Amino acid sequence: MLLLEQLTRRSVQALNPKIMKKFPLTGVSSVAMHAAGHENAEYSHLTPIFATSTFTFDSAKQGSDRFAGADKSRIYSRWGNPTFTTAEQTIAALETFGLTNADGTPMQAKALLHASGQAAMTTLFLGTLKAGDTILTHYSLYGGTYELMNKVLPATGINTRIIDMHDLNLVEQALRSDATIKLLHIETPANPTIQCVDIEEITVLAKQFNKLVSVDNTFASPYLQQPFKYGVDFVFHSTTKFLNGHGTAIGGILLGRDLELMNGAMWKWHILLGGNSNPFDAFLLTQGLKTLELRMERHCHNAMEVAGYLADHSAVALVNYTGLASHPDHHIAAKQMRHPGAVMSFELKGGLDAGRKFVDALQMCVRAVSLGTVDTLLSHPATMSHMSMPKEERLKYGITDGLIRLSVGIENIADILADFEQALARYPFP
Ligand SMILES: *Cc1c(COP(=O)(O)O)cnc(C)c1O
Repeated sequence: MLLLEQLTRRSVQALNPKIMKKFPLTGVSSVAMHAAGHENAEYSHLTPIFATSTFTFDSAKQGSDRFAGADKSRIYSRWGNPTFTTAEQTIAALETFGLTNADGTPMQAKALLHASGQAAMTTLFLGTLKAGDTILTHYSLYGGTYELMNKVLPATGINTRIIDMHDLNLVEQALRSDATIKLLHIETPANPTIQCVDIEEITVLAKQFNKLVSVDNTFASPYLQQPFKYGVDFVFHSTTKFLNGHGTAIGGILLGRDLELMNGAMWKWHILLGGNSNPFDAFLLTQGLKTLELRMERHCHNAMEVAGYLADHSAVALVNYTGLASHPDHHIAAKQMRHPGAVMSFELKGGLDAGRKFVDALQMCVRAVSLGTVDTLLSHPATMSHMSMPKEERLKYGITDGLIRLSVGIENIADILADFEQALARYPFP
């Protein structure tokens, strides 16, 4: 019978050695296209869709060598597949690009690609925590994360404590008074009011108390923000969003700097929970990644224009965008992000009714949840993503009835603004 201990042999798949050693890449787009290695006997230009559940052995001996780790070749796609590996290596290279360890050596991370962000988060929490442990987190969280913490994890004995992590004194008090806290999980920027928390300050505190830190980097992407720079242990993404970039596949990725942990225990949780990706979705992700830098530059440029337009409009009551100096976390975003991102929320003076009419009047921009796609998406948190949250709770988190969430796309900015202009002009807003 196969012993699971034998399966901890997955080494970090070497990054493209030809490129990484002889010709150090100096830019994000070059890394996105060339850092990953290529397992490819047919000289195919792109890593193909390896649509196979299993991998063959030339002999019984080769099969047993693979299980024993003497032969590093593949075994079974739940445990890894070349199409997944290309995506994993590329994202690991992007998250560690330009970063060094304390001893000056280039930082490395191991990435595990999952079927969804939720699957990657499940591996993270179950792989690091056990019954009796507590997660310390900030109150502004993605809905699925909030529900996982509140509806699923308590059944396993893992609890969550939610505080305002803007207040570092509160973080320190919690760490000092509660020895069950094992992991600090932070999402920055966060949905839908675009709150940011200071990754560096929180990590410094966490490390004083010897705690693990994970960062949900979905809204930023590694082009805008690299949490490993501040010594965090894990970085998480829903690849469904900016990393894929085109809305073609659901996916999630978990990255860690502790290679032994990631190749050993964490990999085991990953394969046993069974939240692996599939070759087709992984292929779509590998294609999207190549244009990350170009897309993010355009997304952020357009977002700044849209935020300025909305902030100046007489029908608009409020804009939550960290690129505006009026956002309470403007300075935190400026410290740790290259640009303020492409997601914002805003409220019309006419509240819920005006918000609904505005969204219905849009001609080009798209009514949909999700974010980070090439096209501009709008949703209405109070009646969509946060509908199940009690109203008082929602209001406490700044999710007012009229709040509209907007993921600014890479269309031509004149068309985005013209669509907003005609929609706002159509109704007699106050
Ligand atoms: C979408 C999202 C998730 C969940 O990812 P899925 O791919 O939908 O499972 C987690 N965190 C954030 C910030 C997200 O936007």
